[in-house]
Amino acid sequence: MIVSKCAICGGKVEEKEVSETVRVGNDFVVVENVIAGVCAGCGERYYPPGVVDRLRDIEMHAMDRGALKGLHIVGHTYRINYGAPIHGISV
Ligand SMILES: [Zn+2]
Repeated sequence: MIVSKCAICGGKVEEKEVSETVRVGNDFVVVENVIAGVCAGCGERYYPPGVVDRLRDIEMHAMDRGALKGLHIVGHTYRINYGAPIHGISV
């Protein structure tokens, strides 16, 4: 286990199987069966170093356009541009 207590909220971190999204230009690859520590309180994820390396390898491999052709397409990506920044935080 990576950590047992969340560095952000102090919640309990449990090992779980999650999906991670790797972005390749305008394309996204959903990588399933990724083992991560997930905080039960705030949902923050903690990855063992090997997992981070593995996701980077997948990203590098996916940059070869041909590599994406054999994958199952699960959805579409849409873009919205309101022409001005959206400010959600007022300070
Ligand atoms: Zn937390």
